[in-house]
Amino acid sequence: SDQSLIRNFSIIAHIDHGKSTLADRILEMTQTVASRDMREQLLDSMELERERGITIKSQAVRVFYEAKDGQTYQLHLIDTPGHVDFTYEVSRSLNACEGALLVVDASQGVEAQTVANTYLAVEAGLELIPCLNKIDLPGAEPERVAGEVAELIGEDPESILIISGKTGQGVREVLEQLVERVPPPGGDRSAPARALIFDSEFDQYRGVVAYIRVVDGVFRKGEPIVAMATGSEADIDDIGFFTPAMTPVQELSAGEVGYLITGIKDVTKLRVGDTLTNKRRPAEEALPGYREVKPMVFCGLFPINNDDYADFRDALEKLSLNDAALAWEPETSDALGFGFRCGFLGLLHMDIVRERLEREYDLELMATMPSVSFEVTLTNGEIVEVHNPSDMPDPARIQEIREPYIRASVLLPKEYVGVVMELCQERRGEHAGMHYLSAERVQLHYDLPLAEIVLDFFDQLKSRTRGYASLDYELLGLRPSNLAKLDVLLAGDPVDALSMVVHKDKAYEIGRNLTEKLRKKIPRQQFDVPIQAAIGSAIVARETVKAYRKDVTAKCYGGDISRKRKLLERQKEGKKRMKQVGRIEVPQEAFLAVLELG
Ligand code: GDP
Ligand code: MG
Repeated sequence: SDQSLIRNFSIIAHIDHGKSTLADRILEMTQTVASRDMREQLLDSMELERERGITIKSQAVRVFYEAKDGQTYQLHLIDTPGHVDFTYEVSRSLNACEGALLVVDASQGVEAQTVANTYLAVEAGLELIPCLNKIDLPGAEPERVAGEVAELIGEDPESILIISGKTGQGVREVLEQLVERVPPPGGDRSAPARALIFDSEFDQYRGVVAYIRVVDGVFRKGEPIVAMATGSEADIDDIGFFTPAMTPVQELSAGEVGYLITGIKDVTKLRVGDTLTNKRRPAEEALPGYREVKPMVFCGLFPINNDDYADFRDALEKLSLNDAALAWEPETSDALGFGFRCGFLGLLHMDIVRERLEREYDLELMATMPSVSFEVTLTNGEIVEVHNPSDMPDPARIQEIREPYIRASVLLPKEYVGVVMELCQERRGEHAGMHYLSAERVQLHYDLPLAEIVLDFFDQLKSRTRGYASLDYELLGLRPSNLAKLDVLLAGDPVDALSMVVHKDKAYEIGRNLTEKLRKKIPRQQFDVPIQAAIGSAIVARETVKAYRKDVTAKCYGGDISRKRKLLERQKEGKKRMKQVGRIEVPQEAFLAVLELG
């Protein structure tokens, strides 16, 4: 195809500002999807995305647009996720583009991920096309929000498009601007072929499906290719683009975005960030890949059924292909058996991965408390990284513990500055600056321990500001803190999977809250179960789950068999997510009780 008629762009915005809906309108207006097949947020094709109403994976679609100049342009549109946990996903998509549509909800204004994603796009050197969306809403405030956007990107407020992804108002003008302002892709069609794998997924029947952006040359069906980093070789079985259905073609050339299938089933052989080239006429230099992402939050995942361990490993391998930010290593717990310690970019990411593993790979998993990773200097000078609280060395051997700190950026209406500062102080935050985006909106910076925001900071922020504050953060590095390991003992035995690392000043309060929460979550047994929280040998809190007195069926007197059976069935149901820990059956909720500590 004619390279000068190609335009590659991403749609970026804060969560819920209308990216996926705008993508719907573009698919509809360009007749990419027949109207009978149209449905809302069409590109959110994963079951989980539809249920939760959020975009998790970027989607790349090709549409043809006949512009006012009479030419038909080939547009590659990438819809991206908006949540802070998926920033990495966004930055990879931006790398495959020359332009970005910046969507801002005209009834809300500039929010934390509006700012973060704008910076990413500017860093990637993209042409930005800002649009005020949801102009159809009665609460829309286009003048105020145009002012905020203009301030952010340093452009004239007059030049900002005013649109509605819902009604379609202004969407044609968006496409006109795209065609006019976003440059066609560079790259040399006659040079040796090079393509960047910017995403991939595993198809049970076809093996690895690599999502590629061709930078130079041409990739043709049947030709042999090499992945430059891994050295893997294969022939191209199938190549094509998304509409969003996979549509095969004979070739993809410089500037085009699409997919490529080789029949390779080993997911380690085609990695995201690797460069593909032609085996017969290889390129000399690989394309710059992606920076490694470091997982920030860790938890143990254990199959409920121990026989599922091998399937679980296999599922992790395949899912990692579609989720480059997921990290994992084997973990053995005295309480929970064999599993994996998994690393995530945040709590939403953790939640999504666990659900995808269960749904897409048919596993039943038990998750332990999330925690951050620590760096510990031992008294002998050795430095160790600790991903799991239960691996924290003996206090007598520890010289210093360092924990990850983040720089949080909170965007909020000025009347909430006081309550948010208070929340940040409670969470060991240090004020790091503040500035006004407009007369009404403020950007507040705080340095906080990641551990303090991992749990319920976001929920607290939302509830204390009635939903008006938004949060973005970036890792600052490690700082020393006065930390200690808090152990939990059930019936006198320490349960490794319940250990957590806490700030010493908060140890008593957390210990008390935690034992209290656990008391409510651990079902009664035939004997009393003491629950203790301890730091080293010092018990800081204690509760008891009293033994039950009666058989559960005792209250179903006499012959009512069906009612009795129902009760037993219900009890069995409730037992599903339980793990036998010593003599005690511990339900899943107990391991996540820490999430409710706030
Ligand atoms: P995303 O998270 O940025 O992809 O946002 P979605 O496209 O999923 O939209 C979030 C919500 O805003 C959905 O309920 C949409 O129906 C709604 N929405 C999106 N665009 C518009 C619009 O232009 N007008 C109105 N009234 N609602 C919209
Ligand atoms: Mg979306």
